[in-house]
Amino acid sequence: MSARPGTVYLVGAGPGDPRLLTVRARALLASADVVLSDRLVPDGVLDGLPGEVVDVGKIGGGDQVPQEETQRLLLEHARAGRSVVRLKGGDPFVFGRGGEEAQLCAREGIPFEVVPGVTAGVAASAYAGIPVTQRGVASAVAFVTGHTQPASPAGTGTQPASPAGTGEDPGKEETAIDWPALAVFPGTLVFYMGVRRLDRIAEQLVAGGRAADEPAAIVQRGTFGDQRVVTAPLAELPVRAAQAAISAPAITIVGPVAALHEELAWFTAGPLAGRSVAVTRARAQASGLAARLRALGATVTEAPAIRVKPLEVELPDPRDYDLLVLTSPNGVHRLFDLVRDARALAGPRIAVLGPGTARALRQHGVEADVVPSRAVGEGLVDALADVPVRRALIARAQEARDVVPDALRARGAHVDDVALYRTVAEPLDPDARDAALDADYATFTSASSVRFFLEAAGGPEALRDGPRLASIGPITSAALRDHHLEPHVEATAHTPEGLVAALVADAGG
Ligand code: SAH
Repeated sequence: MSARPGTVYLVGAGPGDPRLLTVRARALLASADVVLSDRLVPDGVLDGLPGEVVDVGKIGGGDQVPQEETQRLLLEHARAGRSVVRLKGGDPFVFGRGGEEAQLCAREGIPFEVVPGVTAGVAASAYAGIPVTQRGVASAVAFVTGHTQPASPAGTGTQPASPAGTGEDPGKEETAIDWPALAVFPGTLVFYMGVRRLDRIAEQLVAGGRAADEPAAIVQRGTFGDQRVVTAPLAELPVRAAQAAISAPAITIVGPVAALHEELAWFTAGPLAGRSVAVTRARAQASGLAARLRALGATVTEAPAIRVKPLEVELPDPRDYDLLVLTSPNGVHRLFDLVRDARALAGPRIAVLGPGTARALRQHGVEADVVPSRAVGEGLVDALADVPVRRALIARAQEARDVVPDALRARGAHVDDVALYRTVAEPLDPDARDAALDADYATFTSASSVRFFLEAAGGPEALRDGPRLASIGPITSAALRDHHLEPHVEATAHTPEGLVAALVADAGG
């Protein structure tokens, strides 16, 4: 045990849209030794972190990790000198028990910091076009827990465990609410955790004098791509929400501002809302594709079964060639590790396989001369048809196809082929594998991702009758067919953007 305890950071992860994570939260996540995370944190923020990630919100056998156990872990890691991020949905001090955890740290002499997050009551309202205050309409706002004294006569006294990811927290203390006082509160009421008690909330407020026809709204999964909003007069909201099958996590807003939804609703669910998509490409490349999918409303599981392994190579001097061919962003980045100085590339024309590779090159300040319209080897061969080539250097993956070098050699060019990296198997996390096999779609962006994913998933059988298989192009599709799997979706443009477009088309059809 180290003499000095590590710092505990009580960090808010925001309401769901990963873009609402604060800059401070992102930086701490990237440097923490340990992350103790809740269930309700935005999709993707835990992917690829260097530290250990412990899901203390996990439902195992119907229970989440008890608060005492979470606190024990918090102390244990901090006392071992580790920096600990305690990540909570929304804001850590708004119905998140962050206050108790801060008190624990204070009591135990553990240094702590609090990083506020965008709380769901404000964020879900904002994404529903409902300002929680508005001049002349609402000059105060109250955040209220809807998880109140059990009074339902049908109640058995025990709380049913909520399903994973619902955000209704059965472990939370029941709190007494002064309904008559709330009913006359001069401003907007924002209820957290109130879905299952909606009828009681409406009933008590009306009984206390709130107008039965006061505007009200409920926002399910606010800020997520599949956000849903139901508005109704207060007394009717419970029935209307039930008809719409609204479930947790949801925020209920009561007050005249709720009527502004009609005028101000601006956020529309993406075309992939409600769809789950597995991304099998190497983690280092997955984030761009995953972010695009999430932005369209998909729930994304990253299930990388491959990793890029740089190879130690003696790179010939590019100035000795009149054509340099680069076939992937990985190849570009690895090349720049090796050359360091972009001026080394000033001599040859540069041809790339597709727009992603061109973009990677541009990040290093170099423009490609040749970008084929079809991002496959054959497309590049066509694009090079009128380009004079005497000596070509091809820098790429070890296991690449030979279409381009063969075609150039057939034209009489001297071709040197250098393998800059190779893809190797990456152990597939069992949870990620299960989520991928359960997903609506599994995406494949290369023949090697097909091969390694199938190996890690337990063979092609695992994918039969499972997710719809989405392939980036003909080579990847052929790799699937080699395993007697027929892709359901093949991208027309063989790029991540093209793959996303194909998924959107398939999901809408
Ligand atoms: N600390 C969190 C709240 C935790 S209590 C915060 O500051 O936001 C969990 C409750 O928050 C859920 O039952 C739900 O009422 C609400 N909630 C969390 N995320 C939400 C979301 N994306 N949309 C709507 N409500 C959400």
